Amino acid sequence: MSRILAIANQKGGVGKTTTAVNLAASLAELGQRVLLADLDPQGNATMGAGIEKRTALPTVYQILLNQVSVAEARVRSKPGHFDVIPANRELAGAEIDLVNLDQRDMRLKSALELVADDYDFILMDCPPTLNLLTVNAFAAAESVLIPMQCEYYALEGLTDLVATIKKVKQRLNPAIQIEGLLRVMFDPRSTLAQQVSDQIKQHFGDKVYDTVIPRNVRLAEAPSHGLPVLVYDRQCKGAKAYMELAEETLKRAGLTAREKIHGQT
Ligand code: ATP
Ligand code: MG
Repeated sequence: MSRILAIANQKGGVGKTTTAVNLAASLAELGQRVLLADLDPQGNATMGAGIEKRTALPTVYQILLNQVSVAEARVRSKPGHFDVIPANRELAGAEIDLVNLDQRDMRLKSALELVADDYDFILMDCPPTLNLLTVNAFAAAESVLIPMQCEYYALEGLTDLVATIKKVKQRLNPAIQIEGLLRVMFDPRSTLAQQVSDQIKQHFGDKVYDTVIPRNVRLAEAPSHGLPVLVYDRQCKGAKAYMELAEETLKRAGLTAREKIHGQT
């Protein structure tokens, strides 16, 4: 059985996709079988995993419309050693196409259930909105990983996200939990970042990951090469931080690293 995590924050540009791609690659490095589902029409996770979004077909869009299965749509991120369900612009129409269909919130969950035994972790990269795509991710998820920058408005945005998770818990998925808050793009020299970080800890206690992801230019460069940072520059601070996050994720899940199983699907 796999652990299913949604990576979400409706605020844009907070490091969701960077976290999704690099956590996927780092968990794979620790011998975990990982599927990364791109749920954002921007297709950034697809590209960051080394897959050309423009020609990717089928994508998660066809999965949501029940036209193909996950097994038919998944492709291998060769550099990342994990599987990917790609997304591209076509997904922008999904909201309208799904509106009159049954079980429109539950389609991703049903599709992922069929491959749950193939993976240790399924990560879902959500778009920067609380729309039907995000609700599909929350309906399927056991928990939500929330990346956040330690800025003045960071906590304000969290209120809406937490309210949406609560609604999903009541109506669709009673088991959903907040997996953790991840401080990203962190600059330890900034007093404001330290203050906001302290506030986040006060509010969320041990839900806050011990791992902190620093601001690191290598993390921003890697996607333009279609590579996870671990492959692009494994010695950089960003790569080390995402490895630490993968170790912390395993520890929290009560799992241990395995010998690498690269080469298998
Ligand atoms: P969106 O809401 O548009 O989906 P996002 O939340 O997925 O955005 P990313 O695309 O991961 O955010 O990151 C936004 C930008 O910040 C990207 O250019 C990315 O390369 C850069 N970035 C992310 N994390 C870091 C980091 N730790 N250090 C430096 N740059 C980073
Ligand atoms: Mg993104």
